[in-house]
Amino acid sequence: MMEENISAIATPPGKGGVAIIRISGKNPLDIAKKMFTPVGKTAVEDFEPYRMYPGQIDGGNFCDYGLCVYFKAPASYTGEDIVEFQCHGGESVARGILKQTFRMGAKPAGRGEFTKRAFLNGKLSLASAEGVADMINGESEAEVKAGYLLYSEKLTNTVRDLQSELKTLLAGIDVSVDYPEEDIEEQHVQELAIALQGLRMRLSTLTASYAVGKKIKSGVTVAICGKPNTGKSSLLNRMLGYDKAIVSEIAGTTRDAVEGVLEIDGRKFNLYDTAGVRESGDRIENIGIERAESIIRSADVAVFVTETMQQLDDEDARVLEMVKGKPLIKVINKIDLTNDETETDADVLTSAVTGEGIARLKELLYEKGFGERGEDAAFLIEERHFEALTRANDALKRAIDACGMQPLDLIGIDVKEAWDALGEITGETATEAIIEEIFSKFCVGK
Ligand code: GDP
Repeated sequence: MMEENISAIATPPGKGGVAIIRISGKNPLDIAKKMFTPVGKTAVEDFEPYRMYPGQIDGGNFCDYGLCVYFKAPASYTGEDIVEFQCHGGESVARGILKQTFRMGAKPAGRGEFTKRAFLNGKLSLASAEGVADMINGESEAEVKAGYLLYSEKLTNTVRDLQSELKTLLAGIDVSVDYPEEDIEEQHVQELAIALQGLRMRLSTLTASYAVGKKIKSGVTVAICGKPNTGKSSLLNRMLGYDKAIVSEIAGTTRDAVEGVLEIDGRKFNLYDTAGVRESGDRIENIGIERAESIIRSADVAVFVTETMQQLDDEDARVLEMVKGKPLIKVINKIDLTNDETETDADVLTSAVTGEGIARLKELLYEKGFGERGEDAAFLIEERHFEALTRANDALKRAIDACGMQPLDLIGIDVKEAWDALGEITGETATEAIIEEIFSKFCVGK
């Protein structure tokens, strides 16, 4: 499908070595012809695809010296003809050249419009397009890795395999419905139930991986809690490696929950420094305390900090009560201030000043957040995929329950519903609204 030419700056805003302006559509080379003067003898219309040509790029009121490359349909990102200009990486340079492409007839590209065209032209599945967005938006290496697996159609291929098996089962159901034979049908229903059960198990394995995938995408929430002045902000800063939270010697100054994002072995952790959870007459501080309590309650992992060998009191007991049932790491901080070697039940002894125990604390955070380190499998990271797979699984459960109880054509309806739910992942049965929503999350130029 050859649409009108659209163009956008493909590189991020700001200054850089190079900026790229991308035009995709039915004849971007015609636009290039009007605004690019090659250095060599080859005229723009004779450009060989996938080769860089140096020359002068017209920015309307100025010129730049840069490169032009032509990608020939369908072997391009969008599946259409594409021309890209590489110019000097200044915002005004790139914007001027972009405006010139508009003057030459290109339309401004909408958010994710290049990738949307790629999807509509069958270059990638809907899940793969979402993988592109996950890679771009990924804040940790694990997220990028999971995004790449999506992008490279790993999930789509698995889903297509399941769909094709469902299709075969549906065809069998159709035959039985059209040519019913009592004794054969009974055997068929039994075999069908076994086959559907097998498919359900595969779906369940996929949906189970969302427990980890979800944490990869949104990060493990960690509440650092304990009495004021035990060194919570200092520990947070030490873990992040920079001064994020405000450290103060006056008890109760960490009034707000300060968030810092930490990457441990490629995985994301959202750290919350909670205000001192304690009784206070100060109104603003009380608001902070309420907020801290809600963070502590909703956290995936709690880090409970006390000072060196300090006896636990009622305040500590209150915090410990709040984190009951949650993965907990007990930290004794300010270890640099003592030589006391008394046995404790702490998981780790730290010093935010010298850095002692910080690596171990990070290791414990990883273990409590994700369990044992394992191979980075193809985790489900998109809630949309999780929901579609769950719906497919539910439909198959209904189909299995109906086996032997209901006529085959009714069972077929549930099986078809499972097939449709899977199609939402690949894009086959995704509605226009779903597609719009997915691409609206992209940036312009992708
Ligand atoms: P918070 O109220 O629990 O967040 O505690 P802060 O991080 O604000 O620290 C309170 C005080 O203890 C500050 O003066 C810190 O410099 C100090 N402090 C924090 N951690 C350590 C540590 O490991 N060793 C020593 N000697 N002082 C620390």
